[in-house]
Amino acid sequence: MKPSRKKTQLARLDQRYVWHPFTQMQDWLRTNPIVITSGEGAVLRDDCGNEYLDGNSSIWTNLHGHNHSKINAAISKQLKKIAHSSALGFANEPASLLAEKLVELANPKSIVLENKRHSRLGKVFYSDDGSTALEVALKLCHEFTRRTGKSKKPRFLSLDGAYHGDTVGAVSLGHIDLFHKAYSGLLFKTDKVMSPYCYRCPFNRARPERADAREYRKCNWECVGKVEQAFDRAKKRKQPFAAFVYEPLMQGAAGMIPQPQGWLKKVCGLARAHGAQLIADEVMTGFGRCSSSGDRNQKPVIRNQRSIGIPQTQNPRPKTPSARRHPPSPIFASHTEDVQPDYLCLAKGLTGGYLPMAATLTTQAVFDSFLGEYDEFKTFFHGHSYTGNQLGASAGLANLTLLESLTSIKGRQRIETALINALPALWDQPNVGDIRRVGLVVGIELVKNWQTRQPFDLREQAGVRVCQAMAKRGVLTRPIGNVIVLMPPYCTAVEQVKQMIGALYDSIAEVLGGGE
Ligand SMILES: *Cc1c(COP(=O)(O)O)cnc(C)c1O
Repeated sequence: MKPSRKKTQLARLDQRYVWHPFTQMQDWLRTNPIVITSGEGAVLRDDCGNEYLDGNSSIWTNLHGHNHSKINAAISKQLKKIAHSSALGFANEPASLLAEKLVELANPKSIVLENKRHSRLGKVFYSDDGSTALEVALKLCHEFTRRTGKSKKPRFLSLDGAYHGDTVGAVSLGHIDLFHKAYSGLLFKTDKVMSPYCYRCPFNRARPERADAREYRKCNWECVGKVEQAFDRAKKRKQPFAAFVYEPLMQGAAGMIPQPQGWLKKVCGLARAHGAQLIADEVMTGFGRCSSSGDRNQKPVIRNQRSIGIPQTQNPRPKTPSARRHPPSPIFASHTEDVQPDYLCLAKGLTGGYLPMAATLTTQAVFDSFLGEYDEFKTFFHGHSYTGNQLGASAGLANLTLLESLTSIKGRQRIETALINALPALWDQPNVGDIRRVGLVVGIELVKNWQTRQPFDLREQAGVRVCQAMAKRGVLTRPIGNVIVLMPPYCTAVEQVKQMIGALYDSIAEVLGGGE
C-alpha cells in the first residue's frame, strides 16, 4: 500500500512560511512535504490519509508510541488544573514528583557509589531541551571547578564527532565540522579526543566482514590510549580537564557510533583518575533506548541470508527472556558499564516524546558549591521561562510509569529480538558496510564498496535518497549522512519491525542498485 500524495494547502503554507531545521530549504521547496496530522502507536498519518511507520521515533523522542492513552490522560488531567506556573519563585506538584522519580531512576541499587554523598545524583535542574540540559551541565561544572579551586580556566574534553546540541555552549562541545565550522567565531575552545569508531578506526587491522565491526575488530584499544594521552598532556600543561563529556554506549548524531563493550568504563576511569568530572549526555541514549534486554549475549541467528524473509523454522530463534527473571539493563546507558556521572543530561525521551522538557541531574557536592549567604552571590544564575513546566512534568511522570511497566519491558525485549533476527538480512546488500545496534538503536552505514569500506561522497546523498525511497514504502526515518537510523518506538510490533527493515532492504536495492 504505497502512499499517494497530491500537494495540499497545508503543504503549500509550510513551503511559503516555515523554515525547517537542518534543511537545505532550496531542496525542500522542490519537494512535496509530508504533513503529519495524527498518529497512533508506531504509526503516523499525513493529511492525504497515508500511513507511515515512525522509524526513528520522531527524531528519537517518542518512547511508547503516539497518542498513548495513559500519557494523554495525564496531560488532560493536569490541563484541568493548570498548564504552567513559574519555577522562578514557586514550586509545583508534577515537577516535584518527577524530580523524586528521576533521582530514584538515576541512582539504581546496582550502582556502587564510591562516595554516597558525592556521587549520588540527588538534584534536578529543569530546562527545555537537550541543548539547554548540556548548557546547564557546562555552566555548573565550570563554576564548580573554579569554586573548588581545581582550575581558574576550566577546560572540557569531548569526543571526535560529538554532537551535544545547537546552542552556542553545546556547539562548543561538539566536533562535527559540517555543523560547527560556520560558528567557530562564536564558540569557546574545547578539546577533542578520538572516539571508538571501530568500522573506520585507523588502528583496526581487521579486513571488512559481514558483521558489526566491533565484533571482529583487531586492535589493542588504541582509542583508550588516545584518551589517556589527552589527559596526560593536559596534566603536563597544568591545565587539567574540568570534565569529560560523553554519550554513553552510542554516539547518536555522530552517525550512530557504538562503543565496544568496556570502552566507557575504561575512559571514565581515566577521567576520574585525573580528577575530571563526568558529564553524561543521555539525551538520546537514556530511558532504555540503549539498554539491552536480559541476555546481553544474544547473537544474530543468521548471516549472509539470501532473502529478506525472516526464517522461523530453520534457525533457532533466540528466546525472549522472561522480564521477571532478567530485569532489563538500566534505564540509563552509563549504568550499563557501572559509570555514575556527575551530571546526567536528559531531554528527548523525558516526556515520552510529547513536550519539550529537559533535566540536568547533579550531585550534592555540586549543589553545595552554589550555597552561600545572599550577598555572596553564589546563586546559579540561569533559568528559562518554562522551567519545570507542569504539563511537561505530568507527561514525564506518566512516561516513566509506563517505562517501568512489564508491558513496556516485554515490548522492548520483543523489539530487540526482532531486530536481532531481521537485521542480518541486510548483509545481503553489497552497499551495506556496517550494521551497528545498541539496544533499540540501529545505524546502518551505506558504502560504495563493502570490501574496501569506500564511502559514498556526501554529495551523492545516498542516505537521503534511500530514506526517500523508504517513505514511498511507508516508513519514515532520517539519515545521518550515509548512515540510516532505525529507532522504533517501544510499542512497535514485531511485524512492524520487519516492515521497517524490509522497506530499507528494498530501498537500498532500488536506489543503489546492489552495486557500485
Ligand atoms: C538531540 C540531542 C541533543 C540536543 O537536544 P535538543 O532537544 O535537540 O536541543 C543533545 N545531545 C544529544 C546526544 C542529542 O541526541
